[in-house]
Amino acid sequence: MREILRVQKLGKNLNGYLGETIDIRAVLREAEVAAQQHGWTSEIFHEADGFKWFALHRKRKVRIQPEFKIYISAGIHGDEPAGPLAALKLLQENNWPQNAEMFLLPCLNPAGFTLNTRANADGVDLNRDYRNSKAKETLAHIAWLERQPEFDLHLCLHEDWESQGVYLYEPNPVLKPSLAEKIIEAVKEVCPVDLSENIEGRPARNGIIRPVINPQERPDWPEALYLIANKSRQGCTLEAPSDFPLAARVNALVAGVTAALDLR
Ligand SMILES: [Zn+2]
Repeated sequence: MREILRVQKLGKNLNGYLGETIDIRAVLREAEVAAQQHGWTSEIFHEADGFKWFALHRKRKVRIQPEFKIYISAGIHGDEPAGPLAALKLLQENNWPQNAEMFLLPCLNPAGFTLNTRANADGVDLNRDYRNSKAKETLAHIAWLERQPEFDLHLCLHEDWESQGVYLYEPNPVLKPSLAEKIIEAVKEVCPVDLSENIEGRPARNGIIRPVINPQERPDWPEALYLIANKSRQGCTLEAPSDFPLAARVNALVAGVTAALDLR
């Protein structure tokens, strides 16, 4: 409890993210090194403007039931540094379930990080480009996704510059056992949870938004909606509060992912 009280809003963000930025090339180099050290393979699925987009893959270590295929992505918004940093930390901690095949995409918008913008270098919000896609990086990502098996769970790592704490979206159209509560329980040990009753225009409770999903009604799909429609019937989009200290946001995302991966 004392730890939590020390993690407070910084008051830096005004009309957008004004906190620390990261050297995304250095972060991704470190991620590739950690992945290689721990036996992951890496596939480059897109290259442009001196950046490469890569997907990391880790096979199951033991053949026990149940088995899972789990997808994690980060860094689709270039002004949300905690996502790629959390991906790096997870790779370095190397604490993955033995019965899960893992797919990890540590950064979907590297150019956005050099600009510190939500959008890519052409001003496209990639997280609204997964239906009638136009951006080359989205098209390359979807082409990669189409070559993959279905995932039992997808986790998308984000930040929100104006939120009062961590929150999450849990799309769960076929009503699998919810993971949201145990994620929030783990996260609140390291970062405050946003207890607002309305977040981003949606009803929320204890930091949890359970969106009603009807992909066909929405023209501008985010990545998570593409995944729900095509690849994975349960997911969680974790939102760290980017007006809080960066270390607390990274720890929150890592704690949330770690709790979600404790599948049985
Ligand atoms: Zn985001």
